[in-house]
Formats: sequence, structure tokens, C-alpha cells
Amino acid sequence: MKREVITLDKSDRVVGDRPMHIHRATDPSAKIKEWVCNSPYCEDLSGPHPDDGGAEPIVQGREPWRGGR
Ligand SMILES: [Zn+2]
Repeated sequence: MKREVITLDKSDRVVGDRPMHIHRATDPSAKIKEWVCNSPYCEDLSGPHPDDGGAEPIVQGREPWRGGR
């Protein structure tokens, strides 16, 4: 299986090897302007990073409606 080498920051939200997408903060005062994420549940990619008050992306396999395991 081919894997791409990528560099992730601590601010990124990547778990496992699902396809990634990039969130971009629209607030010019946001500390984190761009961040990588691979939650399958994101719909709005222009919101703030969790460190800037945004919602934490839902991690596949740890969905709250499954009991958080
Ligand atoms: Zn996302």
C-alpha cells in the first residue's frame, strides 16, 4: 500500500489514514489560519480551529452518539 509522507503540526486533527482536507479560518485574528483534518463529519471547512474557539472535529470511531469509545 502506498503512503504519502506528510508533515503534521500539533494543531492538525488527523487520526488514522482517511483522506484529509484543509480547514481555513475566516477570522483574520485567528491564531491558526489553516489546519489539516480528516474527520469524515466536517461540513463547514471555513470555521475557526478548536484552539481559537471552534468545535473539535469528530473522530471516526469515537463518535459521541456511539458512546465515546
Ligand atoms: Zn475537518
